[in-house]
Amino acid sequence: MDSTFSSGLVWFRRDLRSDDQAALYHALRQCRQVHCVFVFDREILDPLPRADRRVEFIRESLVELHDALRKLSGDEHGGLIVRHAVARDELPALARSLGVQAVFTNHDDEPQALERDHHVRAVLLALGIRLLTFKDHTVFERAEVLTQSGTPYTVYTPYKNAWLRKVDDFYLSAYPVERHARRLARRPEGLRGPVPSLQAIGFEKTTLAQLRIPTGMSGAQQLLKDFLERIDAYDDARDFPAIKGPSYLSVHLRFGTLSVRQAARLAHERSRKGSAGAATWLSELIWRDFYFQVLAHHPHVAGSSFKPAYDAIAWEEGKQADEHFAAWCEGRTGYPLVDAAMAQINQTGYMHNRLRMVVASFLMKDLGIDWRWGERYFAEKLNDYDLSANNGGWQWASSSGCDAQPYFRIFNPVSQSKKFDPDGSFIRRYLPQLARLPNAALHAPWLAKPIELEAAGVVLGRDYPEPLVEHDAARERTLKRYAVVKGG
Ligand code: FAD
Repeated sequence: MDSTFSSGLVWFRRDLRSDDQAALYHALRQCRQVHCVFVFDREILDPLPRADRRVEFIRESLVELHDALRKLSGDEHGGLIVRHAVARDELPALARSLGVQAVFTNHDDEPQALERDHHVRAVLLALGIRLLTFKDHTVFERAEVLTQSGTPYTVYTPYKNAWLRKVDDFYLSAYPVERHARRLARRPEGLRGPVPSLQAIGFEKTTLAQLRIPTGMSGAQQLLKDFLERIDAYDDARDFPAIKGPSYLSVHLRFGTLSVRQAARLAHERSRKGSAGAATWLSELIWRDFYFQVLAHHPHVAGSSFKPAYDAIAWEEGKQADEHFAAWCEGRTGYPLVDAAMAQINQTGYMHNRLRMVVASFLMKDLGIDWRWGERYFAEKLNDYDLSANNGGWQWASSSGCDAQPYFRIFNPVSQSKKFDPDGSFIRRYLPQLARLPNAALHAPWLAKPIELEAAGVVLGRDYPEPLVEHDAARERTLKRYAVVKGG
C-alpha cells in the first residue's frame, strides 16, 4: 500500500482503545511507521484534587492500551509513549524529536480543547508537520446532520429522526486497525518507560477498584456484554435507580475505551429486530450526539444559557444560598431521594439519569440556585463528566437549553421519589439512618407520625435534617423568578 508519510504520530486523548479507533486507523493507512502517545496534560490535571477517579481510570486504561499496542506491533519495544507535561508544548516537541511528518488525532469540540488544538496545529505547521484530525467519538458530529435549510437542529426529536434516516452500515462499521498494525513503530530508547504510576504524576489511589468500576477496553466489553443481556428491558427498567437498568457505560464512552460505533451498531441491529429496549437505548446515544453538536455549533452554552433570555433570571445569592448549596452538595436537604442521589455521586462518581434530573431540578427550582453551580459540582464529581452532556442536562433541567423542560414544569421531589423508588430500596441503600422507616414515611419523613419516627429510631434534626424548603412555596417563588423569561 502506498503511504503518504514515512512516519506519523497518533495523539490519544479521549479515545483510549486500539480497536476501531479513527485516528490510529488513518495513521496506519497513511504512514509507513506509526508512533503513539498519550500526554497526561498538566493544564488539565494540575488544578484537580489529588484523588480523582477519572485520573486513575485513565491510568489503568492506558496500561491496557499500551499492552495492546505493543502486542499489535509484534515488537517487545512497541507500545504507547506516555508523557506528563503541558500537552500544547510537549506534543510538538515530541513530534519534532521523533521526526514525524504528521500527527493524527480525533476531534474534541470542547472550547478549551479546540483552542489547544489550534495552538498545536500552528506550532506543528511552523515545524513543517501536519495535524490531521478525525471524527471518532460520535456517530455524527458538527454539521453532519442538519435541517433541510442547512441549519443545526435545536430540537431533539427531528434531529433524532434525521439521524436515523442518515445512519447506515458505513457510519457504524468499525475501523479495521489490526489489518495494518504491523506499521506500529518501536519506541525510541529514551521513551520506553512503563505507564507512570499515579504517584509519579502526583495523584493518589481512589476507590475505583473498591467500587469495581472496570477500566480499559476489557472493562468496557465486560459491561457491554452484561448490558446486552438486559438491553431488551431497558425502556422499562431505566427509570428506577434501585434497579440495574442502564448500561453504566458512560465513563467508557467518555474516555473512548468503548467505541460509540460498536455500541450504536449493536443497538441499531437489535432495534431493527423489534427490541423496544434497544431502540430506547439507541435514542440515548443519539442524545449524546445531539449535545455534542449543540456545543460545536453554539459554544456560548459553556457558561451562558442557550436561550439568552434565561440569563436575566435572578438566582439566589448570599449566605443562605451558600448554605443551601452546601447542603445540596452534601446531601442534607431533608428530601430523601435528593440526599440519597447526592450520596451516590459523592461516594461513587456515578448518578442515575433520573436522579440527575431530580437533583438538578431541586437545586434550581426548589433552592433557586444558578444551574452553573450545579454544573460545576457535577463536573468535579462525575466519572463520566462530559462538558456537552452535562451542560445539556443542566440546561434542559433549568429550561434554558435546547429542547428543554418548560420552566413551569417543576419536579415534585416527593412524587418523583414515590414514583421511581416506590419501595425505597435506593433511599435505604444510601441513607441507612432512614432504613427502618415504613415505605409511606420514607419519601417525606417530616410527615411521618411521631410514633413511626420513634419506632425507626429517627429524630429529625439529629439523625436526618428537616426539609430546607417547603416545595409548594418554593415552586411559587420559582414561577415568579422565571416570569422574566415568559415566552422566551
Ligand atoms: P445509559 O442509560 O446506559 O445510556 C447509554 C449512554 O447514552 C450513556 O452512557 C451516555 O453516553 C448516553 N446518554 C444517556 N443519556 C444521555 C443524555 N441525557 N445526554 C447525553 N448522553 C446521554 N452524561 C454524561 O455522559 N456525562 C455527563 O457529564 C452527564 N451529565 C448530566 C447532567 C445532568 C443534569 C443530566 C440530567 C444528565 C447528564 N448526563 C451526562 C446524561 C445521563 O444522565 C448519563 O449519560 C447516564 O446517566 C450515564 O449512565 P449510563 O451509562 O448507565 O447510561
